[in-house]
Amino acid sequence: MIFLPYAKRHLCDLHFSRMFERRVKKTFRERAMAKKGEKVVVSLSGGKDSSVLLYSLKLLQQDLPMELAALTVDEGIGRYRSAGVENAKRECERLGIEHHMVSFQDEIGSSLDAIMEKSSVNTPCSYCGIIRRYIINRQARRLGADRLAVGHNLDDTAQTILMNIMRNEPQRLARLGRPLVDHSMLVPRMRPLMRSPENEIVAYAKLKGIVVLEKSCPYQQFAYRRRVRGMLESMENEHPGTKFKILNSFLEMEEMLHRSYSGDATIDECRECGEPCSHGICKFCSLITPLLGKS
Ligand code: SF4
Repeated sequence: MIFLPYAKRHLCDLHFSRMFERRVKKTFRERAMAKKGEKVVVSLSGGKDSSVLLYSLKLLQQDLPMELAALTVDEGIGRYRSAGVENAKRECERLGIEHHMVSFQDEIGSSLDAIMEKSSVNTPCSYCGIIRRYIINRQARRLGADRLAVGHNLDDTAQTILMNIMRNEPQRLARLGRPLVDHSMLVPRMRPLMRSPENEIVAYAKLKGIVVLEKSCPYQQFAYRRRVRGMLESMENEHPGTKFKILNSFLEMEEMLHRSYSGDATIDECRECGEPCSHGICKFCSLITPLLGKS
């Protein structure tokens, strides 16, 4: 049912499913993503990645008893988000997983659409990312999460690695796998799908009856990431396995990077809101709060 160009292998649906599940399990185990009895909150947008992540963690729960819950953030992006929210609810019901919902509107008093309409910001994804990370960390902590699971796949991870290099941000790269320092208010993130290519996630979702939404976010066109993605796609087509090689190079350097940058790293509490941040005032308070005043 699928050809894997990087491995030069054709697989039937049974062998593909087994390979996919083994890879997620291996990633989870090797990177010690959660301990027995811990509470894992899945950041569930309702898109294919986070829905497959939820399904995969439910399967893993048979071997590693952990508490699972899902958290969906409604950013308030036209009709695009409502389909994702519905999908998220459906998947949680189907798998019997506790589901929590929060929205930008309820948490910060404004939707992403309203912020974009009333401001001159031309990089919606950076602003959306700051708000989402802020809300998700705070909410996951309120839910008593030990870990926050995010659906970043191999493509996302390879893009992030390249973007950090292209922007000369080695410190950000050093904390891609785990935080440079632990802080009780910062819920550590895990990426069990970091070795799963996006097209294989789509194929696996279809095999397992998970709805794959066709529409993408209307703001996506502005993303710097989109350009990096295009570049990586053409490299992968010409040289299958490029994305795995980027990830594996990072994993080889991960410990060294972590050692180099963790010595100087500190986590403060924001002097405005008390949430964890790296310097005095968090990005939410310095970049977003002034926009909320305007909107
Ligand atoms: Fe937010 Fe950008 Fe993702 Fe849209 S594409 S949900 S604006 S980060």
